[in-house]
Amino acid sequence: MNRLDELKKIIDSYNDFAVVSHTSPDGDSMGSILSLYNLLLDLNKNVDVFVEGQAPNKFSFLNGFYNIKNVNQFNNKYECLFVLDCGDEDRLGDCKELIEKADIIVNIDHHITNTNFGNINLVDSKASSVGEMLYEIYANLDFNITRIIAECLYTSIVSDTGGFKFSNTSSKTMKIIANLIDTGINFTNIYYRIIDLKTLNGIKLMSKVTSTLKTYLDGKVATIKLTKQMLEECEATEDEAGELVNIARDIENVEVGILIKEIDLDTYKISFRSKDYFDVKDIALKYGGGGHIKAAGCTIKNKKIDEIESEIINEIKKLG
Ligand code: 5GP
Ligand code: MN
Repeated sequence: MNRLDELKKIIDSYNDFAVVSHTSPDGDSMGSILSLYNLLLDLNKNVDVFVEGQAPNKFSFLNGFYNIKNVNQFNNKYECLFVLDCGDEDRLGDCKELIEKADIIVNIDHHITNTNFGNINLVDSKASSVGEMLYEIYANLDFNITRIIAECLYTSIVSDTGGFKFSNTSSKTMKIIANLIDTGINFTNIYYRIIDLKTLNGIKLMSKVTSTLKTYLDGKVATIKLTKQMLEECEATEDEAGELVNIARDIENVEVGILIKEIDLDTYKISFRSKDYFDVKDIALKYGGGGHIKAAGCTIKNKKIDEIESEIINEIKKLG
């Protein structure tokens, strides 16, 4: 039996499902989990969808957003847990507990660093997004892709392709987008919400973050920093300013853009983005993180921000 048939059998024969993605979910995570949540509901299944902490409000327009549960609402047992857009179990954060509460784990992901932690693993590092993978799975299994589900999948794909401009965008991606548009979704509105929308406080935050810009290695590497104090001063959340790391990457002649974000005392989340040739997942992996060739991340603990910055620059120098 191929994996798609196995998946079909699981969906046909089981009744109790849970769906989850990684901590600090992005658009691909949110679109993917909510697409599957809506699909399983359409199939008259019991389904709970989980996010660690607060789901980003930016995605509240997606159907099912207000039904998202968090860690203290775990049910006792699920027959099947779908883990979407998540390279390894540790990236589930507190939701990792769900792994023990399910009979079968289905891991659907497109991260090249995926550890195949599921009982069934559908991992395609060539797919632009998990949304793209799910579209193909639903279509192959003859599931009805409603307008509501299409809104979720469009959100996934538009997010992970940076608005259809990253090199992970393929002609297949665009054919899928055409089919999603044909369901009648308001794609202009979703595109605006995901790619272009910034709040006033977000713009103020962007200005503070931009003022920390430094360049290294003949201008090939650019770093920017985001502290908790900046968030407080601007009364903004990070996602109100858009994809901040892009500010560093988009500068002329910069190959690697880096955002160093303060999470807690001596704990920082690092985002790496490359433009053409540098493989940023290698450096993320060095610090226990992961991701893709042109977009990767990791968390570094017990170090000061300046120490982290100089260490990373040295690592990039070594990697070439
Ligand atoms: P971001 O910089 O937007 O947080 O993440 C960029 C890409 O790297 C995403 O695909 C994300 O899933 C992945 N990523 C970010 N942080 C980590 C991490 O700590 N571990 C792993 N395995 N992947 C990460
Ligand atoms: Mn993704």
